[in-house]
Amino acid sequence: MPSPEVSRVFICIELPSSIRAQGDELQRTLGTLDRHIRWVKPSNLHLTLRFLGEISGARVESVCSSVQRVASRVEPFLVHLSGTGCFPSLRRPRAFWIGVGENQNLTHLFKVLEDELFSSGFAHETRPFSPHLTLGRIRVDRVSARVREALASTKFEAAPFAVTHVTLMQSELRNSGSVYTPLAQAPLKLT
Ligand code: ATP
Ligand code: MG
Repeated sequence: MPSPEVSRVFICIELPSSIRAQGDELQRTLGTLDRHIRWVKPSNLHLTLRFLGEISGARVESVCSSVQRVASRVEPFLVHLSGTGCFPSLRRPRAFWIGVGENQNLTHLFKVLEDELFSSGFAHETRPFSPHLTLGRIRVDRVSARVREALASTKFEAAPFAVTHVTLMQSELRNSGSVYTPLAQAPLKLT
């Protein structure tokens, strides 16, 4: 039997070009800090709401509808990106990110989406929602004190931007890096 067609997908907030440009600028500033840091292409920068992984074509259709339904019930809101950090910790950085200020609207959007996905058969996300914008991934277990200090002292501040739609994104993992393709860009509720 042929294996059913599957896609790797996630739901995210796309960023305005001004924010991607600021991310690019920060990556350039830190660019030569450590060759083990793989920077996310500025055009790929995004804010993940929910990673779904490999799902069948039929489920992609269903998620598309869920995303559209949720978006139509949530009003546009502002997101303020500020500060930087490392996941899981500065001692063992695997991802270097830009932070998202406390944001009840964003948490609400995540919860509504989570409930909708649960209703259509997806298990609940087990990890707590901790929104962040991944700028780079670190491919070694340990980094030097110099790199740690540089990451720890990196500042970031952007003007708040308006979230106007939610995107269902396909991710294809290629040797040259992941290629993202929007499958649906669902507008938030018109006010
Ligand atoms: P690469 O894996 O080649 O570095 P990528 O991480 O950009 O590329 P994906 O692995 O498809 O591409 O991930 C897409 C988005 O989903 C990213 O924001 C990633 O951080 C997030 N993500 C990936 N895997 C998980 C997971 N298991 N749990 C939560 N979020 C995830
Ligand atoms: Mg990944």
